[in-house]
Amino acid sequence: MAGSEAAWQAAHMGIKVVIHEMRPKVETFAHQTGNLGEMVCSNSFRSDDDEQNAVGLLHWEMRAANGLIMAAAEQHRLPAGGALAVDREPFAETVTARLKAHPNLRVSYEEITELPDDGHWIFATGPLTSAALGEAIQRETGAERLAFFDAIAPIIYADSIDMSKAWMQSRYDKGETEEERTAYLNCPMDKDQYEAFIDALLAADKTEFHEGETAGYFDGCLPIEVMAERGRETLRHGPMKPVGLTNPHQPDIKAHAVVQLRRDNALGTLFNIVGFQTKMKYGAQTDVFRMIPGLENASFARLGGIHRNTFLNSPTLLDSEMRLRSKPNIRFAGQVTGVEGYVESAAMGLLAGRLAAAEILGQALPPVPQDSAMGALIHHITGGAEAKTFQPMNVNFGLFRPVDGLKAGRRGRKDRYKAYTDRAKDAWQSWLGNFS
Ligand SMILES: Cc1cc2nc3c(=O)[nH]c(=O)nc-3n(C[C@H](O)[C@H](O)[C@H](O)COP(=O)(O)OP(=O)(O)OC[C@H]3O[C@@H](n4cnc5c(N)ncnc54)[C@H](O)[C@@H]3O)c2cc1C
Repeated sequence: MAGSEAAWQAAHMGIKVVIHEMRPKVETFAHQTGNLGEMVCSNSFRSDDDEQNAVGLLHWEMRAANGLIMAAAEQHRLPAGGALAVDREPFAETVTARLKAHPNLRVSYEEITELPDDGHWIFATGPLTSAALGEAIQRETGAERLAFFDAIAPIIYADSIDMSKAWMQSRYDKGETEEERTAYLNCPMDKDQYEAFIDALLAADKTEFHEGETAGYFDGCLPIEVMAERGRETLRHGPMKPVGLTNPHQPDIKAHAVVQLRRDNALGTLFNIVGFQTKMKYGAQTDVFRMIPGLENASFARLGGIHRNTFLNSPTLLDSEMRLRSKPNIRFAGQVTGVEGYVESAAMGLLAGRLAAAEILGQALPPVPQDSAMGALIHHITGGAEAKTFQPMNVNFGLFRPVDGLKAGRRGRKDRYKAYTDRAKDAWQSWLGNFS
């Protein structure tokens, strides 16, 4: 997805591009063909609503930028209500054919196993980056900065949390500053609530690892339901331990268990549930997590999961134009940068292609506007996200700067989203004006 879009954009700006694709010579466990733009699982690009949905807005921005992935998706669109679903095989065949037909493009079927020292490169090798290249990246970045699995805890919009039940406090009030002493958001449970929560966890529908994905659970990242299976008290001694915390709403009552949430972005609009990586199915997750006091009406920016996924610690490794800081002739794009999903990956490919081409052509560009969906996403992965706990991210309105004067909370949501999308479209159109 990302490589195809990056190549298309750069080629359209007059740059000669070679796409290096290892398939079909070297296979992955998920891809089935040698086509470019292959969708590995679902055939959906999710919501196409560009006024009320952040993914739909990314569609809009990619269409406005002559995006190949969006054009091919439109051509092979299937009826799917408000979603953009596509007929996957003709879609990938169209992407491949259009790239091969472009006079500035050539496809070379080979695996790349090193990070080259010269030339302009975009590495868009995805969640299943080949092992040899993964090793080369680790040699360059340090082993701990390239992950091979994601372990995503659910992420919740701050304004959907009921603060009449939750409170901000770090365990034992640890920290030098007031901000550090109040870094966590706490949701208390009494014994009955805890027991009901454990029952629900044990009963919930879970997904299995894909074939070829079974590296087992890795250190420190056990799914919460697996912890619960090991004993009903395990969570109370792990991520839900109630120690070092006092509930200001009920200071005399000691909580039986506490669920902690941590800020997930610098804006403070998103919080992740600490230690709550999970393999529960999405429907089960919302039901179970809304049992947590304070989260009864939680809106989820993304749900939890554990997947095979190769991704960089982009906030520390990449600059604001997706260049590897230690080797700026190399850009990364797509899922390997820590975005998640076909659309987000293609979007980051689109940006990388344009930014690389502008650099080669000696065109100075203003920064990608943070108020666009593209800008919100690139800003998140290259700086806005917490580097220490960085996990892949979908585009969502929690990544956007608030629009002044609009009501927070559920009631104002429709107006707020419309304001975000209007502002984003203006910002993106005006940035695209730099290319004409
Ligand atoms: C099992 C699985 C299921 C998924 N399901 C979904 C889903 O349903 N919906 C969704 O939105 N997202 C899904 N994803 C995430 C999905 O992979 C991304 O959304 C999207 O494909 C990422 O785009 P990309 O361009 O970054 O990577 P890819 O589309 O994977 O493209 C990377 C390309 O790089 C090639 N490559 C890798 N290493 C090398 C190398 N060393 N040399 C040369 N070529 C190389 C690969 O063959 C591949 O063609 C899934 C991922 C996995 C692993």
